[in-house]
Amino acid sequence: MYYLRNHDQVLVSVRAWITSFILLGMITCCSENSEIAGHRAERKEPMVDKIVRSDEEWREILTPEQYDVLRRKGTEKACTGTLLENKEPGTYVCAGCELELFNSEMKYESGTGWPSYFQPISDDHLRYEDDLSIPGRPRIEVLCARCDGHLGHVFKDGPPPTGKRYCMNSVALKFVPKERTE
Ligand SMILES: [Zn+2]
Repeated sequence: MYYLRNHDQVLVSVRAWITSFILLGMITCCSENSEIAGHRAERKEPMVDKIVRSDEEWREILTPEQYDVLRRKGTEKACTGTLLENKEPGTYVCAGCELELFNSEMKYESGTGWPSYFQPISDDHLRYEDDLSIPGRPRIEVLCARCDGHLGHVFKDGPPPTGKRYCMNSVALKFVPKERTE
């Protein structure tokens, strides 16, 4: 009898542990996906006409560094980008198709080692994808809406007024000084 009671207690204890693990898993899962869910709700179909080129054409047009980031979703090494320290007035366009993406008033020093912006020129010029390439760290990938080039990621730890941080690769952008855009 004593054995059975003890056996029941063990079973209850095991059930409690299993329930705890399931609940913990659900909470962890939900908190990881909330970052993506928040951005997904804000998404809409981009309004720009697509530029479609073959892989071979992109290899001819782009430098090896541009190709690696834009077409292969690479990431330039932190603090190495040529546009990181740029504070000149002007516009940042896609290095693949020259679509206007950000301007100098939207750029800020994030301390991350990559050029950062708190908002784009137009949400229609960007496209967003869920990036689950790093286990346990879901991110939102940012792509050019016109040529589908990989630009970087967007995070929710940016400054006001948007609270967003568009973390971009310098090599995926080209800077056009203001006097040339007027
Ligand atoms: Zn583009």
